Amino acid sequence: MYDAIVVGAGPSGSSAARILAEKGFKVLALDSARFPRLKVCGGGIGWRVFRDYRGLVDVPEEYRVRANISLFVSPSGYTVEVSASDLEGYLIPRTAFDHSLVRAAVNAGAELREGVTVTGVVEEDSKVRVFTKSGEVVEGSVAIGADGVYSVVARSLGLQPANWLRDNAFCPVAYVPASRPGSGEHELEFYLGFMGEGYAWIFRHYDHLNVGIGTLRKNYTVPPDKALYDFMKNNPIASRKIKLGGESVKSRYIPYNGMLRRLYSRRVLLVGDAGGFVNTLTGEGIWMAMKTGELAAEAVTKALETGELLKNFRSYQRRVETHPEIGEELKYGRILRDMFFSSPRLFDEYILRAREDQKLAKLLGDLVFARKPYPELVRQLARELPLALTSKVLASAPVKSIQLLLGYGDPYFPGEGVASRCTYYTESSA
Ligand SMILES: Cc1cc2nc3c(=O)[nH]c(=O)nc-3n(C[C@H](O)[C@H](O)[C@H](O)COP(=O)(O)OP(=O)(O)OC[C@H]3O[C@@H](n4cnc5c(N)ncnc54)[C@H](O)[C@@H]3O)c2cc1C
Repeated sequence: MYDAIVVGAGPSGSSAARILAEKGFKVLALDSARFPRLKVCGGGIGWRVFRDYRGLVDVPEEYRVRANISLFVSPSGYTVEVSASDLEGYLIPRTAFDHSLVRAAVNAGAELREGVTVTGVVEEDSKVRVFTKSGEVVEGSVAIGADGVYSVVARSLGLQPANWLRDNAFCPVAYVPASRPGSGEHELEFYLGFMGEGYAWIFRHYDHLNVGIGTLRKNYTVPPDKALYDFMKNNPIASRKIKLGGESVKSRYIPYNGMLRRLYSRRVLLVGDAGGFVNTLTGEGIWMAMKTGELAAEAVTKALETGELLKNFRSYQRRVETHPEIGEELKYGRILRDMFFSSPRLFDEYILRAREDQKLAKLLGDLVFARKPYPELVRQLARELPLALTSKVLASAPVKSIQLLLGYGDPYFPGEGVASRCTYYTESSA
């Protein structure tokens, strides 16, 4: 029997598996894929990953593009450039990035089984049983659900609400062959307020453009692939930069609407996308996945050492809810999103002013790159937003503005009911 079974070896699972193995526990990581594997993503590896986990990113230099200059485009096409060259963020394909994290977990002593699809977990008094598609059942003292947005683990324990996918965001992404960005080209481009809450992006990787749309599923009035092609072909700014031909398009949900109200059961914890840990303003999720994997590993360590599982699982939940860069970021991110996306004209106005006012341009970058914890950035926003703009924000989103100033809100996904425990999802069901 294993001490811990980690379901899913993406950034959250490999982070948890590595730390538990380093502490000497017998750890099994199961993944339905074989690494290196593709994960549909922008591949923007934020600066916090390098702040906290630099040593784990073992990716050849040629695959990295340093994200120095971003272009922000408002709904009416006003643009402003924002430099983030002091922050160490990169564009790295997820195939290479995730593979390096998995290698670190294996090197630390975790056992990895690839090509193993988990179909459910059952908790018993003294162990948890993990069922696989091949019929094999593995047993552990505890399990960690790190199996991403479609989490079978969350669903099989009744932790996933019935409206989980319906009320989250859906993203079509095109991988368009292109050469390494030249000097003067923006590595990151954000088309704000494109189709309601969310944005479209162009990220310039070393050998392709990653072009995508991230918005709540309810906002699509045409099929998502069509919306993406419309953007790539017809957006007056984007279409000039994208040379279609040989691209592939893939889609995936993203938990863009807050964390689950409950992240644990008797012998199981949820981390990363399975728990809903993605910045609710920008969709950045890799750092939070790694961090929640780390915090869960700490909780499991204490639980296994003391035998007090529930006490330590509850304290994991409290730690992430109150963490300034996790729970607080989810709470404030969503209020900011609802506030700014309430009227596309606000973005026009903001970008127009940011062209003249460096402070406003920098503040936009600070929010998007989470340069400081969100509670701090919100105070800064309240101080630095020009009066004329403040009054427009207040007029278009009065309730959200007051909520933001009072810090009134929560980090939770607005769940309804419980997802069926027996439906089996695959990526293609997206
Ligand atoms: C279109 C898009 C763009 C994004 N862009 C960015 C970005 O630029 N920067 C950023 O920081 N974040 C981005 N994100 C968010 C980021 O991709 C996720 O937050 C992050 O991958 C979460 O890591 P994870 O380990 O929790 O889950 P995942 O990375 O999804 O890993 C889950 C793992 O579990 C495995 N698995 C799934 N089901 C099973 C099963 N039943 N049995 C066994 N194994 C299973 C999968 O094969 C996978 O390896 C983006 C997301 C999307 C959808």
